[in-house]
Amino acid sequence: MTQRVALVTGAARGIGLATAQLFLEEGWLVAALDRDADELTKAGQTLGQGASLFTADVSDPHSGAGAIADVLAKFGRIDALVNNAGVADFGPIEETDFARWRAVMATNLDGVFLMSQAAIPALKETRGAILNIASISGLRASTLRVAYGTSKAAVIQLTKQQAAELGEYGIRANCVCPGPVRTKLAMAVHTQDIIDAYHDAIPLNRYGTEREIAEVIVFLCSERASYVTGQIVASDGGFDSTGVGLP
Ligand code: NAD
Repeated sequence: MTQRVALVTGAARGIGLATAQLFLEEGWLVAALDRDADELTKAGQTLGQGASLFTADVSDPHSGAGAIADVLAKFGRIDALVNNAGVADFGPIEETDFARWRAVMATNLDGVFLMSQAAIPALKETRGAILNIASISGLRASTLRVAYGTSKAAVIQLTKQQAAELGEYGIRANCVCPGPVRTKLAMAVHTQDIIDAYHDAIPLNRYGTEREIAEVIVFLCSERASYVTGQIVASDGGFDSTGVGLP
């Protein structure tokens, strides 16, 4: 049987690395993409056989499109694109200058648009899947997340646009909204106040793990979810189902 190929962006660490690992365990080949070449090399040692590494910046149209071409040259197909690469920058609205705003939008929103657009011809061939990573911060507003939350809310809508337009080619588009996970990204912006508030506000009273998020991602990319498209799935310990606020 032809092996399926998953392209995972932001795969050098965190949720992206866990997702790449799970795809491999489930028999997929993996194109692991990240802009951090050193971290990606380390991830490659963890991933081992079945994974190929691609250094690219998803926010740069030429870099992203070039990576898609490289993945196709290597594997000849793409069955799933996981747009996971992301950055976080928390701050009050008045202190979020345009450069900070643009840096968040460039990776979190432009990157998803650009990588998906570049992958569409390949995904038409395989009747493949797009899986975008947003966040509970795209579903619910709290202070300090003006750029991050807005970028993730836009990814949610972008997913629905993709599902609506690409369904006729058999391409499915879904979105996973993780709750808090102790990755480098989160721990750089989660103050002790935020950590304590999450523990209290989340019905399961804990942070999630990278693996728990990866399980949902890989399921939605798989044949097991062949009739699921345009869906926004929170993997968040129940946080979105409550109205409890955060600092
Ligand atoms: P992380 O910082 O551990 O990993 C993110 C990876 O993306 C890094 O390897 C980084 O080098 C890469 N990356 C960033 N910008 C890039 C770019 N322009 N081009 C290519 N690679 C780039 O973070 P994580 O927590 O694993 O985050 C993964 C995704 O999950 C992000 O989209 C994030 O917003 C989302 N998310 C995370 C949490 C959380 O609590 N950790 C919660 C909700 C959503």
